[in-house]
Amino acid sequence: MPGSLFREGGVWLRCQFHSHTTNSDGMPSPAALCDHYADAGFDALAITDHWHVTDVDHDRLVVIPSSELTAANPSAHGEAEVLALGVSELPEPSQPFPDIEALAAWITARGGVPFLCHPYWSGLRVDDLLAAPSLAGLEIWNGGSEIMQGNGLSTVHWDDALQQGRLLMGIATDDCHTPGEDSGFGWTWVLAQERSAAAVIDALRRGRAYGSAGPRLLDIVIEEESVVVRCSPVRSVRLRSGPWDGCGVNADPAMGNWRGEVCELDTAGLVTGARFEYPEFWRWARVEVEDERGRRAWSNPFVLPGAGEGTDGPNTS
Ligand SMILES: [Zn+2]
Repeated sequence: MPGSLFREGGVWLRCQFHSHTTNSDGMPSPAALCDHYADAGFDALAITDHWHVTDVDHDRLVVIPSSELTAANPSAHGEAEVLALGVSELPEPSQPFPDIEALAAWITARGGVPFLCHPYWSGLRVDDLLAAPSLAGLEIWNGGSEIMQGNGLSTVHWDDALQQGRLLMGIATDDCHTPGEDSGFGWTWVLAQERSAAAVIDALRRGRAYGSAGPRLLDIVIEEESVVVRCSPVRSVRLRSGPWDGCGVNADPAMGNWRGEVCELDTAGLVTGARFEYPEFWRWARVEVEDERGRRAWSNPFVLPGAGEGTDGPNTS
């Protein structure tokens, strides 16, 4: 539907959806973890201790009842892990689920939002995501995995699922165990109706969110043949779709543009606005921006006007 992706209004909340305390394998106490994220400018925190719901209140943070639960990993040794965001109870008995779908369905049935953790780090494959229709989405960026092992970015898994028709949502997280060492590398901006845990979960379920490791997405306006993006200063803005397809503009004139133009530059010559013309056969797209330090932000995928009306293109097979 044409219009701004963020048109509904509300309040933008900076959220950390993956973190640990001494109630599982994290270093900080629950109170110390909350203080750390509040001091760092966050609005909301999900403490996702392994198989433990850490119940704590904080005067400056919205604390979202959550945990990190496990299921058998179909593709690698170890287990698959899923964030049970917005769920204040635990399964009985406390043992891994037989598969990811059973775990995701358990979370959904309790009003929570299930996000698959770090698919790249866990050795998961896109078929594992596709076999779990109850998943709301996945961590496309896990800061802890990235700084420890360089495998925190799971956008290939994401694009593969999108290409096959599963418009999964993406979040970015820290997976913080030691504040100050593995914190501040990934977070998710949520456009909530109000500053409450229930409103954050509702907005997340509806896709009114985007992940970031630094840049801000200020607006995405979808028109009949074009998409307009406004953002904090970045060196590139890209509109992703299926294989072979995408658009991109760059602050560096030597890198050129493809199916798009820069609409706004800041005084340092960085891009703050871009317009793209997309082919009519595209069914979905997502926006990805990258700042001067290589830090990215990723919009959720959105359906384009005319999608499903049928013309085949390279990205619809
Ligand atoms: Zn974790």
